[in-house]
Order: sequence, then structure tokens, then C-alpha cells
Amino acid sequence: MNNKAIVQYYFQHHRIIQKLSIFIIPVLIGLVTALVWQTGGIKFVYSHSMYIPILLAGFVLGLPGGVFFALVAGIALGPWMPIDTVTGEMQQPINWIYRTGYFVLIGGLSGAMNDSLRRYIEYLSWLAKHDVTTGLSNRKSLLEHIRGLRRKSRLQKHNQKQFVLMLINVDNVRGLEGAFGFKVTDRIIKVFAAFLAGNLTEKTRIYRTDTDQLAILMAAKDVNSEQLVQHIVALLKESVSFDSYSIYVPTHVGATIIGETYETPETYLQQAGLALASAYSRKRDYTQFSSALETNAQRNITLLSDLQNALRLNQLSIHYQPKIDLKSNTVCGVEALLRWQHPLYGNIPPSDFIPQAEQSTLILHITAYVVKQVTEQIVTWRAAGIKLPIAINVSSHDITDNGFVTNLLVLLERSEIQGNLIEIELTEGALIHNLEQTQVELLRLSNARIAISVDDFGTGYSSLQYMHRLPISVIKIDKSFVSGLPNDNGAKHIVNAAIALAKNMGIKTIAEGVETPAVASYLKEIDCDFVQGFYYSKPLPEDEFVSWYRAFRAINA
Ligand code: C2E
Ligand code: CA
Ligand code: CA
Repeated sequence: MNNKAIVQYYFQHHRIIQKLSIFIIPVLIGLVTALVWQTGGIKFVYSHSMYIPILLAGFVLGLPGGVFFALVAGIALGPWMPIDTVTGEMQQPINWIYRTGYFVLIGGLSGAMNDSLRRYIEYLSWLAKHDVTTGLSNRKSLLEHIRGLRRKSRLQKHNQKQFVLMLINVDNVRGLEGAFGFKVTDRIIKVFAAFLAGNLTEKTRIYRTDTDQLAILMAAKDVNSEQLVQHIVALLKESVSFDSYSIYVPTHVGATIIGETYETPETYLQQAGLALASAYSRKRDYTQFSSALETNAQRNITLLSDLQNALRLNQLSIHYQPKIDLKSNTVCGVEALLRWQHPLYGNIPPSDFIPQAEQSTLILHITAYVVKQVTEQIVTWRAAGIKLPIAINVSSHDITDNGFVTNLLVLLERSEIQGNLIEIELTEGALIHNLEQTQVELLRLSNARIAISVDDFGTGYSSLQYMHRLPISVIKIDKSFVSGLPNDNGAKHIVNAAIALAKNMGIKTIAEGVETPAVASYLKEIDCDFVQGFYYSKPLPEDEFVSWYRAFRAINA
């Protein structure tokens, strides 16, 4: 056992050591007394052995125990103990009184020192398991509690309970700090923890696991664990009082169930963390852990480097999805959508790798690949008598990268492609990312007669200010609104308003995600210009698209 282990052992077993010492110390005092008597009385050196039980009493029992047993020891060597047992000479009272006083001083001092040492060590061990500023238990203590739960539930096999572990992340800490000062995160966490504690059962434990993160550990019957999480997610949506303000603090939640499988506490925490990350990336309030999430996360780690290779190894390809002009019922263009056939994972949807690629410069290479393929496609189709504009999805990095627009324009010129055969689709977020520069670059594109569409319209900032400042020719109403038509009133209002707005500004509208004839005819009724969706065709590989296109033209001629 090393020193740390001895100290830990001592403090863990402190109570039992105290109880034992209450028996051992009097015995030791008795033994020393007998030793002093046997060796000829108090005048010999053996009386000093009494310091052992006195110091022990102070060390184990603290100040009161140290003083008490010092008194006992003083009296044991007191008036009845001769100076010399052979001659029978007795002690002067001052002799034993002074000795007893001295014992009390030693016992008291060792007890007091031990008391403060113990308090300090107790504070240190509290510190190791708590967050100092809020007083909440920390990550370490969460892990210990989970370990404890596992031990308990193993004991009570018949009454096996499930527990839910939730991680709650406070969003926009920077914004809050900007408004209320940098200590605001601690205070928000405190207010939040108190609010949750007041609204949940006593058995729920709340922890602070990171600067901007709380964790909740609570028992749940398997049937209602989902309800329990939903209840907390709903609670989190309520405003909390903060300095005389009532503020809404946006959060994301990741949850996992403890008790279905036997995992280490660290694994459960990791599962909840994965669920939390997925809630962020999927733009959900909360996500519950599933093994699919884990597989995805493992895959995502290697995905970026695989993507780099995919570009070299020709694993990427482009599918084309038609856009239909509702008035003339003709194909008015296509959208180029990237496809990745991974040798191990099969078909990986772009939503799984584009956002990742957008975090690095890899997106520039991907866009360059798409631009090259698309321009080649236009040339091939031109030779085959097909003249359809192709839309390219472009990210904010592309548009603010100095080379993108120049390269595109050079490529078009070199292949003698007219600008009106290319369209650029950009999301609202990408448009306002760097508005000044985006404005300059988009103007260059529109001067070359390249049409610019606002993709996923309605899901982003929907700030109308930028629309006036940018040369936008089409807004593309997001499929989340379109799929609800014509019954969902909320979606209907948004789509109607978007179309009216666009008309006022002289901008065309396209609805994406049209899956049924009912949606298509409703859109036609409200004067939407174009549509795109599975109802007409899924995105298809080039050859299949051409066959589909010829057949569509033949039917609608
Ligand atoms: P997006 O630009 O909004 O593309 C439309 C997505 O909706 C496509 O998904 C398409 O397959 C799907 N879709 C089309 N019609 C329907 C329908 O009727 N119903 C439903 N439910 N979905 C429909 P996909 O191909 O998986 O692409 C997802 C996203 O990935 C795209 O969303 C776009 O943001 C991005 N992406 C795809 N290709 C590229 C690319 O070459 N470059 C960049 N930067 N992003 C791309
Ligand atoms: Ca698009
Ligand atoms: Ca879209």
C-alpha cells in the first residue's frame, strides 16, 4: 500500500477505527501503568511510554478524545503510583498534577491538529467530487454514482431498475456572456440546477459535468423513461428567472438508458455525449442514444480521410433530379446531387459527409469536382441536343474562396458554355456568412447570367434584408414546408407568404420535395413557378436521367 492508499484506507474506515480505539487505548494505558509499576515506579524512564496511547487517542479521536484519555493516563500514573515501588516512596501532588497537565496538553494538541487535518482532507475530497463555484457534484462523482448503481442493481437482480442519464448543454454561452458578463455561465448553471431540482423528484441527482453542461441521473421504469426525458425537455423550454429578467436559455439534450446492458460508467457518459452531439447535428432538442449512433460516430471519424481518397478513386458521382415548370409542364433544369459509393459502407448520403467536409477545405475540392463534372455534362448533352441548366449546390466557403467564381467563369468560357446553363444554389446561412464579399462574388456570377437560388428557404435566418442586396433569381421553398401541403395550415401560410414575397420582388419560386400530385396541383394553384421532387423523379444517374427525360418529353409533347 502506498501513502495515498493508506490515507484513503484510514479515512474510509475511520468510524470503525474510532470504535476499536475506544477499547484499545484504555488497554494500552493499563499496560503502560502495569509496566511502570513492574519496573520499579515512576522514577524510571518507562512512564514516557504513556505518550503512545495519548497521541493515539488524539490522532484517532480528535481533541475531546485526546484530552479525555490524557486525563485518564495522568490519573493512572497519579497519586497511588509510588516513585519507587521497592521503598514505597509516594509522589508529591505537584508531581502527578504537573504530569497530568502535560499529558492533557499533548493529547489536546495532537487531537486539535488531527481535527484540522481531517477537516482539510475532507474538504479536499469534497473538492475532488464537486464543482466549487456551484457546489454541484462533478463528473467524477457522477461516474462513481453510476458505478454504485451497477453494483446495487447486481445485488437486487429481481427488482432491476433502469436509470436515465441525461446531458444538458446550455447553448450560446458566448452570447450570454456578452450580455451579462463572463461569470454568467456559473450563475445560469446554478439557476438551472435549482429550477430542475425544484421540479423533479428528490431522488434525481444533478451534476455539473462541464462549464456549460449539466447531467441528470434518475431512476426510471422502462416504460416511462422516454416520457421522463420528454418531461425534462419540456421543463427546459420554460423561462428561468435571472436577475429580475425572465430568460429563455436554449439547450440540447442527449440521453442514454443505464441498465439495459452492462457497460462501464465512462461508456454511459460517452453514449450520452454521442446522443448530445447528434442532437446538435440533427438540429433536435434531444436525442436518445442508440447503437446506430455509435456506428455512425465511429464511421464519421474515418469519413473525412476516406472522402479525400474517394475523390482520387472515383467513388463520387453525380445524380440529376429534374425541375419542372408548372405552367408549361416541361423540364426546365436539373439539380446536380453528389453521391458517394463507399467500398465498406455502401451509399453514404451527402447529408452525412457534406457538413463534415464544410468544416475543412475539403469542400473546395468537392465543389471543384462537381463543377468539372457538371461542365463536362453540359458539353456532352449539348452534343446530344439536350439543353438544360444544371444547378450546383455551393457552400459558404466556396463563395468566399477567391478562386471559385473565377475558376467557374474561366471553365465556362473555355468550354463555350453560356452562363444561363448553370445555376448556383446557396442556403440562407451561406448567403449571409460574409455578406459583403458574397455580394461581390454573386454579382460577378449574375453578370455572367448565372442564376442564383436560395436553397432551403424558410429554415434559416429568413432575413429579408439580404434579399434586396443580392442578385437572387429563385427561392427554393424547403421540403419541410412542402411535404405538409395542402393540409398543414402553418406550412400553407409560410409557402403562400414566400410565394407572394417572391412575386413582389420579381423573384421566381420553386418548391422542393413534391411527392404527390395533390401537392403539385396545390402549388400550381397558388402560382408557384417550378417544382422538384420524387413525384416527378428521384435524383438519377446520368444515363437513367436521359431516358427519363426523353420519356417525359414524349408524354408531355
Ligand atoms: P438539397 O440541396 O436541399 O437537396 C435536395 C435533397 O432533397 C436531396 O437530398 C434530394 O435527393 C432530396 N429530395 C428531392 N426530392 C425529394 C422528395 O420529393 N422528397 C424528399 N423527402 N426528398 C427529396 P440529397 O441528395 O440526399 O442531398 C442532401 C443535401 O446534401 C442537399 O440538400 C445539399 O444540401 C447537399 N448536397 C448534395 N450534393 C451536394 C453537392 O454537390 N455540394 C454541396 N455543397 N452540397 C450537396
Ligand atoms: Ca439544393
Ligand atoms: Ca434544399
